[in-house]
Amino acid sequence: MKTKPLSPEIIEQALREATDEQWASERGRRNAAARQINAGGRPKALKPCPYCKKEFGARDLAAHKPSCPKRTA
Ligand SMILES: [Zn+2]
Repeated sequence: MKTKPLSPEIIEQALREATDEQWASERGRRNAAARQINAGGRPKALKPCPYCKKEFGARDLAAHKPSCPKRTA
């Protein structure tokens, strides 16, 4: 796709005519770009397994505990 070079007049007109919706989507786009540095969401809080002391995220630990090789029945 070929795009015309933007003149200051065209940019000014676009800014004047942009709808709230367009501003919101632009804001969303910029926020998403800014977030990429934190991509992956919340960092896992690691907890050590009470049996083997290996660290797991909460979900992984719950899955690991019953089958921990160091666990004594
Ligand atoms: Zn373990």
